[in-house]
Amino acid sequence: MAPDYSAFAQRADAVLAEIRTACVQNGRDPVEVELLAVTKTHGPWAPEFAARFGLAGVGENRVQEAVEKMPRVEAKLRWELIGHLQSNKARLAATHFDRVQSVDSIKLLSRLNQAAAAASKTLTVLLQINAGDDPAKFGAALADAPGLLEHALNQPALKVDGLMTIAPLSDDAAVAQRTFANLRELRDRLAADFDVVLPTLSMGMSGDMAHAIAAGSTQVRVGTALFGQREKRG
Ligand SMILES: *Cc1c(COP(=O)(O)O)cnc(C)c1O
Repeated sequence: MAPDYSAFAQRADAVLAEIRTACVQNGRDPVEVELLAVTKTHGPWAPEFAARFGLAGVGENRVQEAVEKMPRVEAKLRWELIGHLQSNKARLAATHFDRVQSVDSIKLLSRLNQAAAAASKTLTVLLQINAGDDPAKFGAALADAPGLLEHALNQPALKVDGLMTIAPLSDDAAVAQRTFANLRELRDRLAADFDVVLPTLSMGMSGDMAHAIAAGSTQVRVGTALFGQREKRG
């Protein structure tokens, strides 16, 4: 999509309408579901458009790309890392992002905690869970989630906001529905067992946000429906 604000605003209005409809159908208040604009592969215009529209946060999936983009964006935004994080990039991620959603290993938790402590900040994180049991996806296995949360709660420089998942690509709606229900049930179980609040459920993208909202999503991560097809990566 060429950077044209009015075309973007129309798409964003349509996405907000889809979110509202899904909320109404499920007896939820639309203010419970945040729209995170996924700006990966797009230039600094994309975060600028998101901010101008009134969105508070953007999602990026590569540390290096985001770190280069951030200084070229004037708008005040919350930057969230949603893509796979290699532990050798943990320090860069911990210092530049406001929240890291893709935390799926004990090693990564430890690295992020060290880096956040060294930067004298508290880093908020989500635990990424492979709730659809998809071999093509990153994320901790459902069975490993309690151990991961236990370790996360012991990291003084980290704050765990909740869980994130990506549904397997499928033409069968039941696959996404089951994945999102799994994440919701896991969150409810962990919150009870560990006596903590895990308010954030980051689930749902352009193609499956209605299912995610039905299952309790509090944040949908939307790229294509806002910005059009992504440019090819170099
Ligand atoms: C790219 C991406 C999205 C957005 O996907 P769209 O289908 O373009 O809305 C959401 N979440 C993650 C983790 C992504 O990498």
